[in-house]
Parts: sequence; C-alpha cells; structure tokens
Amino acid sequence: MKLRIALQKQGRLAEASTDMLRKCGIGFSNGLRKLRAEAEDFPLEIFFLRDDDIPEYVANGVADIGIVGENVLAEKPRNVETIEKLGFGRCRLSIAVPRNFTYASLTDLEGKRIATSYPNVLSSFFKTHGVKADVHEISGSAEIAPSIGLSEAVCDLVSSGNTLFSNGLREVETVMSSQAVLIARQNLDRDRTACLERLLFRIRSTMSASQNKYILLNAPSDKVDSIAALLPGMKSPTVLPLAQDGWVSIHSVISENDFWEVVDSLKRAGAEGILVLSIDQMIR
Ligand code: ATP
Ligand code: MG
Repeated sequence: MKLRIALQKQGRLAEASTDMLRKCGIGFSNGLRKLRAEAEDFPLEIFFLRDDDIPEYVANGVADIGIVGENVLAEKPRNVETIEKLGFGRCRLSIAVPRNFTYASLTDLEGKRIATSYPNVLSSFFKTHGVKADVHEISGSAEIAPSIGLSEAVCDLVSSGNTLFSNGLREVETVMSSQAVLIARQNLDRDRTACLERLLFRIRSTMSASQNKYILLNAPSDKVDSIAALLPGMKSPTVLPLAQDGWVSIHSVISENDFWEVVDSLKRAGAEGILVLSIDQMIR
C-alpha cells in the first residue's frame, strides 16, 4: 500500500510543495521531465501534474491526496475534502482596472467587460453584490486584456501586485483570498487513512516549527518572574542557573508573529544576551 499524492509539476506551488515533503523527512528524486516518483522512506507515491487537474484526479481516485490552491477548488468544485491549510501559495483573486479608470465602487463595473480565468468565482461575486458585468473568460495573461481592447477590467491572482502595476493596472477589489491546501478523496481505506494521519502529523509539526522560534537569554535571578510572564513557551520556560551567582539562563519558544515585540519587552524587563534559533520540528 502506498498513499498517492498529486503535486503541481511546475509553477508557483511546485517548489513549496516538494520542500514541505522534504521537511517532513520524505525524500525522493524528481527531474523536470518526471511525472512520477516514489518516496524513499515513507509509503508515498508522488504524481506531478498541472495544478488544474489535481482536484479532478483526487476526486476520481487516481490520487488519494493532493496540494492545490483554494482558488482552483473555488472555480471548479470537486468532491474532495480539504484537510489542512498549508500556509504557502498565498495570493488573492482581485479585480483591477487601468489607472485612468475612475473607480469608486463595484457599481462602476456595471455593464463593463472583465477578463478572467475565474469566471465562476467572479460571476458569483457579482451576483452576491448585485452587479451586472460582462464576465469574459480567457485562459491566461488577463493583465494585458485592457491594453489590447479586450476588456475594461481584469480579475486575476495577485500576490505582490507587481504584474498589475507594470501593466498599468490598479487593484480595486478582493474577490477571494487563497493559499495552498491539502485535499483528500472521499472514503480512503483504513491503511491509507493511517498513512495520511502520519503525514499530517509531520506536516503540522513542520508548520508549527516554522511559526515559532527558540529563544535563550540571560537574566538576573530576581527578574525571572517578570521575564517568565512574557514567555509562555510550550508549558513554561526552562530556567537554568549560570556559573555566575545571581544569574540564570531562560529558554522558551515564542511565536514568530509577535517576535520583535516580545524581544523588546524582554530587554526592558532586564534580559541580556538574547539568542533566537529556528526550530526544525515541533512535536506537541
Ligand atoms: P499549471 O501549469 O500547473 O496549470 P498555472 O500556470 O495554472 O500552472 P501557477 O501560476 O503556477 O499556475 O500558480 C499555481 C497556484 O499558485 C495558483 O493557482 C495560486 O493558488 C498560487 N499563487 C500564489 N501566488 C500567485 C500569484 N501571484 N499568481 C498566480 N498564482 C499564485
Ligand atoms: Mg493551471
């Protein structure tokens, strides 16, 4: 028995997806032309596919699980289960207009042509907001549509906004936000479910490791309470005596989100020699 996973072969999710498996301790060789690989140390078989095909292959059981953007699932819903948000491949599906287009609200798009590769998501967005626009489906490169007279506006995936900017477009509405997710087919058998559980356990450990940092610092013994209050850690901070009397070393785990604020408060509370290390795995 092997769990079969479908990953994007080439593109924006490809590298992050294989990196995630490698961080989970799952090694395999994949050349550019390879369509299939077997993991070396985990019962996993990997298929490399176009991202648009992944939900379909998972739904019909060619693959058991897959990694795909939420945007792809939203456009073409399939009978698959979303198991976990993976925190990479973040982007948004946005409406953008040429810089000289006077835009105040969605009603300014009434009767206008909008070029997009996401006609279903965009049409239901307009429907929800009671706007009648002409959704024009194209298969890619929406950003050039206004300059060649194909449409008055576009709706496309954006992350930094650089592509829109360099095509003279301005982002005006977010239709949906998206990130990569792990999907699974319905009715996995017992062995495959167990295998997926093992994989998920590793994925969650690497994800929480990447969201946290290991911190070590020195502090005068009389400051331990106020410093410990700033460091919840996994249970509570570790406090070890230093060779120098009246000083201790405090170890803990902090979240990457409020990392700088915590470091500032630690310094104010009397911490010295603060070291911050990244964590490979975090087993809860
Ligand atoms: P394929 O050849 O597999 O069909 P593609 O050209 O359709 O690839 P990519 O551009 O590689 O797709 O994007 C794959 C996914 O990456 C998108 O569906 C989306 O979920 C995510 N993504 C993240 N940031 C962006 C971005 N700035 N533009 C486009 N997609 C992005
Ligand atoms: Mg695609």
